[in-house]
Amino acid sequence: MKTTMPQIAGRRADLFVGGDWRKPAAGRYFASYDPSAGAPWYEAADGDADDVDAAVGAAAAAMQDPAWRDITQTRRGDLIRRLAELIDENQESLAQLETRDNGKIIGETRAQMNYLPQYFTYFAGLADKIHGEVLPINKTGMLNFTLREPLGVVGIIAPWNSPLSILAAALAPCLAAGNAVVAKPSEHTSASTLALAELCMQAGFPAGVFNVVTGYGESAGRALARHPGIAKLAFTGGTDTGREVAAHAAANLVPCSLELGGKSPHVIFDDADPARAVNGVVAGVFAAAGQTCVAGSRCFVHARVYDDIVAQVAARARAVRIGHPADDATQLGPLALRAQREKVERYVQHGLDEGAKLAAGGGRPGIEGDGWYFQPTVFSDARNDMKIARDEIFGPVVCMIRFSDEADLIAQANDSVYGLAAGVWTRDIDRALRFARAVEAGTVWVNTYRSASFVSPAGGFKASGYGKHNGVEAMREFTRIKSVVIDHSGRDHDAFVIQLK
Ligand code: NDP
Repeated sequence: MKTTMPQIAGRRADLFVGGDWRKPAAGRYFASYDPSAGAPWYEAADGDADDVDAAVGAAAAAMQDPAWRDITQTRRGDLIRRLAELIDENQESLAQLETRDNGKIIGETRAQMNYLPQYFTYFAGLADKIHGEVLPINKTGMLNFTLREPLGVVGIIAPWNSPLSILAAALAPCLAAGNAVVAKPSEHTSASTLALAELCMQAGFPAGVFNVVTGYGESAGRALARHPGIAKLAFTGGTDTGREVAAHAAANLVPCSLELGGKSPHVIFDDADPARAVNGVVAGVFAAAGQTCVAGSRCFVHARVYDDIVAQVAARARAVRIGHPADDATQLGPLALRAQREKVERYVQHGLDEGAKLAAGGGRPGIEGDGWYFQPTVFSDARNDMKIARDEIFGPVVCMIRFSDEADLIAQANDSVYGLAAGVWTRDIDRALRFARAVEAGTVWVNTYRSASFVSPAGGFKASGYGKHNGVEAMREFTRIKSVVIDHSGRDHDAFVIQLK
């Protein structure tokens, strides 16, 4: 069955709570913009604390509903597999929705929607393979086993740059582990998350297992982060918001995972294959118009090949086909938000003020209409201590930094508050491994970049956050362990002394 959500254009979209669509408590809606036109294209419900409360209540009820509480893990996997099939059937419409909503090029949203069914299928398979253990307890006549239980109601707060993929990174393991979810998409990109709610309903998940409260971060997002009924928060977004969300989780004494920003070092040694390395740098920073957390935005190049590599990267940047994101030929679409383009423009000015030179781009391309486009931009003669190399710009801007010594390179690569990802291009395996061990980053790519897999644990260090998505680790993070200790010896206990033997 095809989802009806593509007809969201020009309509008002409601909240999804307790297995049904419902109007926001306060009756307010807000406009969501199409970045390629700079114009509103539908209205999303402006959910507030009352709506969050209702959604958390619906999720808590689902956790007590025998249809979800007592479901076998295998059957849970079946439901997730069915959801994967439905996503597969609706790939094209979901890709169109996201491209319209956040301006990401259709080639990339198609690739992401093609990957999502595999992602859910992987966790569907894991649903009945994560379990407790029988432990060799150091007492005779006793049995100790552990149960791996779901945590309860999980709040998932997602950003606008890859709405469904980032949601799925938490949602798939979270559902596989048996939790119920309240999701808060970014106010800028609600459409695909609402479409997913419809697919969850079609897949047959019991009412309340997946709920969506759209709305603003400061109202709906904050209300969700603070809600005492939440057992865990899975947050992806900016570092400052992450700090606030973590503080709410701490106040409620619940765990949280934080997938935050990055300023990833991308290194080219003088023995690298230049064509592959340049391709990696271009794809690593200009994909999604630079709006990816792992963008390789600090590009360190060995002095011996620096001028040549900068010239090649700049030439490739100038040749990028900028255009409407729904056009198959487009390589770079608009930025997702008007404010994001203004932020990028401020950083480009900072870079020039600090003495970096523009080797390519630096301004708005001459594209007709009011879309929020920006040229792929290459700064040469950048230094790691410049603001453009320290702050996450989250736009199509790369800082080309010269280095000549490996130890100094590693010191510079690690001289960042962030620690999300890193890349290195070299034919020397010893050097690649030295770099991989020394660099402070949750993911290290060697002779490749931005290569993701559902089996490969990912997540940042330092100000890039904590917690892992992907792989078995991700699913364990959505469970808690209960230890059950049984005395089958029949002996009596000393009532007043703890049983240590
Ligand atoms: P924000 O931190 O502003 O927003 C992320 C989410 O949090 C949105 O849903 C937002 O809602 C919500 N939010 C905002 N304020 C609050 C609050 N006080 N309490 C609770 N929730 C809140 O980030 P951006 O949307 O600007 O996303 C870009 C950032 O996300 C970048 O810094 C990027 O690096 C990071 N990111 C990290 C990734 C990773 O995997 N490490 C992946 C993708 C992005 P609303 O949008 O409605 O304000």
